[in-house]
Amino acid sequence: MSGTPSSRPEAPAPGEDPLVHREAPSPNFDGRALPITMVVLHYTEMDGSEPALAKMCDPASKVSAHYLISEGGEVIRLVDEAKRAWHAGVSCWRGIHDINSAAIGIELDHPGHLHGYRAFSEPQFEALVPLLHRIVTTHDIPRANVLGHSDVAPARKIDPGELFPWDRLARYKLCLSRPRKLRLGDPFDNDGQFYLALERFGYDITEGRKAVEAFQRRWRPELINGEICGEIRAILFQLLLDRDRGIAR
Ligand SMILES: [Zn+2]
Repeated sequence: MSGTPSSRPEAPAPGEDPLVHREAPSPNFDGRALPITMVVLHYTEMDGSEPALAKMCDPASKVSAHYLISEGGEVIRLVDEAKRAWHAGVSCWRGIHDINSAAIGIELDHPGHLHGYRAFSEPQFEALVPLLHRIVTTHDIPRANVLGHSDVAPARKIDPGELFPWDRLARYKLCLSRPRKLRLGDPFDNDGQFYLALERFGYDITEGRKAVEAFQRRWRPELINGEICGEIRAILFQLLLDRDRGIAR
């Protein structure tokens, strides 16, 4: 049954993975062609975790993820982390195009923007934190490479979206936090400079306005309009400064 935010998953049996409540092996995977260097978070945009699970276990769908976390906090493993799950599609981050080969994909059971966009559930977040902590520790994944699907596919995707609590995740040092102390002055002379900096940070800028929207969705979610303004210029400048100084680790 699909988990509701109030129903807690059963504790795993002794000897089993304490962070995984259920195994639901998907046939939709193949071998990795790159080392694991990133995590991509998604929402399912479906009505409950069971339909999402059925889809990701159907060979005809050709989609999967390593983990699905229900709104009730149940962690379901579909694909072994060593294998290449099929969640990112056509995507790019910092010059890497085969994101599926480089990433561990986590699907969050959520109705998405299509079916009534809303806050992510607390039990789901509480299940995500220890799982993500283990993933980034095990594979030595930099915080700067814990990403949303919209970050790696800005022209096509908007998940997990502006309500995903990145700042809460950042307090656990599991992703970068939004820069708060911004320097005064305008760091980039013109839009071309901003786009080049955006690409340097990691985004695919093929569709410029969509790339700006993806950046806003992640770093200034209160206003997503695709417009380059002083505030987002300053946020990007600070992110790049921090990375150059090694703070992004
Ligand atoms: Zn997605």
